[in-house]
Amino acid sequence: MKKLLFSIIILFCFLLSPISSISQTTDKSNPKLVIGIVVDQMRYDYLTRFYNKYGEGGFKRLMNEGFNCKNNHFNYVPTYTGPGHASVYTGTTPKYHGIISNNWYDKVSKASVYCAQDDAVESIGTTSRAGKMSPNKMQTTTFADENRLFTQKKGKTIGIAIKDRGAILPAGHTANAAYWFHGKDEGQWITSTYYMEDLPKWVKDFNKSKTVKSYLKTWNTLYDIKTYVESGDDLNDFEGGFKGKETATFPYDLKALKEDNGGYDILKTTPFGNSLTADFALAAIEGEDLGQDEITDVLTVSFSCTDYVGHNFGVNSKEVEDTYLRLDKDLERLLKVLDKKVGSGEYTVFLTADHGAVDVPAYLKSLNVPAGYIDNSDMKTKFTEFMTKTYGTSDLVENVSNNQVFLNREKIKALGLDLSVVQQTIVNELITYNDIDKAYTAQAMISTSFPDGIEHMIQNGFNQKRSGDVIVVYNPAYISYSHTGSTHGSGFNYDTHVPLLFYGKGVKQGSTVTRTVIPDIAPTMSALLNISFPSGATGSPLEFVIKK
Ligand SMILES: [Zn+2]
Repeated sequence: MKKLLFSIIILFCFLLSPISSISQTTDKSNPKLVIGIVVDQMRYDYLTRFYNKYGEGGFKRLMNEGFNCKNNHFNYVPTYTGPGHASVYTGTTPKYHGIISNNWYDKVSKASVYCAQDDAVESIGTTSRAGKMSPNKMQTTTFADENRLFTQKKGKTIGIAIKDRGAILPAGHTANAAYWFHGKDEGQWITSTYYMEDLPKWVKDFNKSKTVKSYLKTWNTLYDIKTYVESGDDLNDFEGGFKGKETATFPYDLKALKEDNGGYDILKTTPFGNSLTADFALAAIEGEDLGQDEITDVLTVSFSCTDYVGHNFGVNSKEVEDTYLRLDKDLERLLKVLDKKVGSGEYTVFLTADHGAVDVPAYLKSLNVPAGYIDNSDMKTKFTEFMTKTYGTSDLVENVSNNQVFLNREKIKALGLDLSVVQQTIVNELITYNDIDKAYTAQAMISTSFPDGIEHMIQNGFNQKRSGDVIVVYNPAYISYSHTGSTHGSGFNYDTHVPLLFYGKGVKQGSTVTRTVIPDIAPTMSALLNISFPSGATGSPLEFVIKK
């Protein structure tokens, strides 16, 4: 009886304790700053392949002191930059957030649209049209949006990347700012009227400084090239290189090559573009006072140059290796400043990628691994002939893009045809083509629930309003691309398996080989911050990552 009375008293004391002290406890457990890092085109094995060459303060610090999800994948197709960034931060897939590709055919306007394009806003910081961008095509919120809503807009959000879509989509709809880099003959960090009418002083100062110009130097390997045993020969048949230089071999004199390679845009295809991104991120932390009070701010940083380098030189190149060794140094630099400015243990970081990449198919073929290149023109001729023979016209097809066929609904109706029958007829034809491994109708995507496999991934990437009528899957490691350099977009492991590291406040130390998926990231961050999940989130918080 005494025991019961005691319990009741304790319970009363708890109930009577002021609400403010409860919320204070919650606030205290929140990080002052969350930094989301996306490394464009980073395969999981770049963590392990180059591990012995990384320093202690960059990737290794995140891997060993944080939590390493070793079996993390994209769970949809296509694996491109726009959908990748949207999925990481919204915690869902193109089915819900609507960013079905970088560019797609818009069925309503019957024109190609870009994922961050916004004709209703103006450029800020450039006379070009490169600033006419916003997240208007993304239909759901990011965890940064939810943090803004939760904190009554007191927690800031800043998005930064060389690529506009890499800055804009992560930061979300309510961001204070997103900044991206305009190369050409300007070499400036820019934004749009979606965020502001004029660049803040710290951005203007940065643009006026000599920082950008200082990177137009010679790109040589960070360490002796002979020690780069984790990648192929510097001179090989599988790399693109720069215009004006005969071989894709070190060193690269960027000042001399600048004119033939898009002016300041040349920096995008070098590790120096990543260093420039880190410089700008550090300027933002200082200029915006990020992480200086108890209300959580969010900084999203995307390192875009790893993607440009991969596209040009390929997964197995010395250039890719050098780019990661240098990025490791930039990460170390960033973390050191965060320790000092925000305080060690006061911030939370996650690092992932927007997609992986395939080894150059020509290289794989030279090793007898099944791989190859799609002959688009041959396939187009054959398909047009088929449509003309079957329907008396090839006009039924309005557009073919992103491995999807878009049909002309009006023509199909006018000819008295059944849309789902036309879709199935096209599937039956396309599946007979050499390079096509699988084909599905939109009808199947909306009427059947696929629990796993590539069908499930297509379904996660399929947006009923925006996607096409027929979806095809090419053979493994078959790409529609130049015969040099790497690309991505498929549902195969080389494109889906990417790093996922959590580090800092609220994060446990450890690792797992349990499968995690990209849409788990945003709900994990929401759970860590004790805020609402993004509006369309379909992933689950990773309980084993979060400290209770
Ligand atoms: Zn890419």
